[in-house]
Amino acid sequence: MDNKRIIDEFLELVKIDSHSKKEGKIANILTKKLEEIGFEVFVDDAGEKLGGETGNIIATLKGDKEGKKLLFSSHMDTVVPGEGVNPIVDYENGIIKSDGTTILGSDDKAGIVAILNGLRMIKENNISHSDIQVVFSICEEGGLNGAKNLDYSKINADYGFVLDSGGSPGEVVVKAPAQDAIKVTIKGKPAHAGLQPENGISAVMVASKAISNMNLLRIDEETTANIGIINGGSATNIVMPEIEIKAEARSLCEKKLENQTKHMIEVFENTAKEFGAEVIIDVNRAYSPFNIDEDDEIINIAKKAFNSMGVETKITSTGGGSDTNILNKNGIKSVILGVGMKKAHTLDEYISIKDLVDSCTMVYELIKSV
Ligand SMILES: [Zn+2]
Repeated sequence: MDNKRIIDEFLELVKIDSHSKKEGKIANILTKKLEEIGFEVFVDDAGEKLGGETGNIIATLKGDKEGKKLLFSSHMDTVVPGEGVNPIVDYENGIIKSDGTTILGSDDKAGIVAILNGLRMIKENNISHSDIQVVFSICEEGGLNGAKNLDYSKINADYGFVLDSGGSPGEVVVKAPAQDAIKVTIKGKPAHAGLQPENGISAVMVASKAISNMNLLRIDEETTANIGIINGGSATNIVMPEIEIKAEARSLCEKKLENQTKHMIEVFENTAKEFGAEVIIDVNRAYSPFNIDEDDEIINIAKKAFNSMGVETKITSTGGGSDTNILNKNGIKSVILGVGMKKAHTLDEYISIKDLVDSCTMVYELIKSV
């Protein structure tokens, strides 16, 4: 592996601003890089649907042999504050970090660099391979909306590897939860809080009683629930007429998720009834779960690759959603792979140079393993 080329490309990519919906510049650069490797690049219309600068990149490299077709994916967008990143290579500690005023963007540009360099190695060493596809998605942060609007008619891969997790290469995430986004509006009745409070119905009192009677946070080892945002009220002398609550529930098991969401809805509805308030509840399945069998062929491919690297395969699960949930829902059996991004979504984000380089080797070895 050419460490200098890898590090230089990582620095180049993290310096390109690419907040969600603003991935136009990086998409152009990545298109050129993929074409140089030999890919045919297609950009779908997800950007038009989402009001962004570009769609998802879907690229295909024809193989010279039959075999399972692999797809590698990373997202191009970053969270805020991710503009004007000034990366610092700390050779003493073997890491790359930001200057502390922004995120670094190794989430998920480490994945992109790994895919590009793994593929270059395949080409440079004339390794025989089956068809390979690459998806660089938009708008992963804040709702997986790029993957949700991906043009799946352009994808014919058998297995997907999404490079978007914090473990070192060797980590394979085979399970992720489903999530329900739950929006609740409680409508009480306003009244002057000093003159006729008894004529009012306090929306916040309905909400607080409901929430205190609700099973929340850690429900069981597979299930969680949280009240995240509450908004209501405009003056202390008015009995609060309306409150809006945003909550979520997640579970690795779809049935348990349904039960938890149902429980939360019932408590809100029953409490509202008790107070004579109105309640409007909107539940949106943000993403479905996935659960890949540990003896599945995709896991064997990963194990074979990590064995060649002399790295132990670590099978894990996650509590978060990623593009992988959406790929699986659309019939592409996929897992998430660790690329070593640390403290993602914070100003302290960093990645070790070793993990970055090993991630490139990982892609190379995965392709050689089919
Ligand atoms: Zn990510």
